[in-house]
Amino acid sequence: MNKRDFLKTAALGSLTLFIKPNSITASLPYELPALSLDEGKEGFKLPQLGFAYGALEPYIDARTMEIHYTKHHAGYVFKLNEAVKGTKLEGFSLEKVLAKTQPIDTAVRNNGGGHYNHSLFWKIISPNPLKTPIGHLSSAIDRDFGSFEKMKAQFDTAAKGQFGSGWAWLIADKKGKLRITSTANQDNPLMTKIASVKGTPIINLDVWEHAYYLKYQNKRADYIAAFWNLVNWTEAEKLYNER
Ligand code: MN
Repeated sequence: MNKRDFLKTAALGSLTLFIKPNSITASLPYELPALSLDEGKEGFKLPQLGFAYGALEPYIDARTMEIHYTKHHAGYVFKLNEAVKGTKLEGFSLEKVLAKTQPIDTAVRNNGGGHYNHSLFWKIISPNPLKTPIGHLSSAIDRDFGSFEKMKAQFDTAAKGQFGSGWAWLIADKKGKLRITSTANQDNPLMTKIASVKGTPIINLDVWEHAYYLKYQNKRADYIAAFWNLVNWTEAEKLYNER
């Protein structure tokens, strides 16, 4: 990275942390009356990112991050609010909505899952993470997979093997046992009426092409390998302990 690029990235960083709703809505394909950052507005909100769009370079590029967050994720939030409005799901927490979602509730299933999955993904990636798991999560990984490397290998297989769009997951079941799974589209392991493997998500990886195609094109395996440089093990440990 040359000095000019660095300054640009640094400037983008401060913009992202103090982003104004208008600067997001201006680039969206449709109007978003309820954007996350509107305090006091009812309904689900786009969470603030904890890092700048360019902060995950070279593993995830700034342009992908920007489009992914301001267009894809914002779109799921907007459509989820529309989907639950006036239904019996209105007013429940996102986790409750996901648990109640029936397979035929297509709009809530896709957009509720889309909102949850991306919100978690932004939390469990970080520009400067620890290199390996810590604490109780680290012990549980060794206990349930044999080693960190073996867990990663299983996760990689799930992420590479998810045909088409979807997600790979490290989850904890009711007893705290860790498992790897994958889901199609925006389904997730909290959808008790839909998911074949259920549990509390600890880390997840978006393997939709929109998550990596600009930088990696068809090389999903390279994107998956890059992901391990970003996993926020501090947050993952917190999620494991709070489950
Ligand atoms: Mn995505």
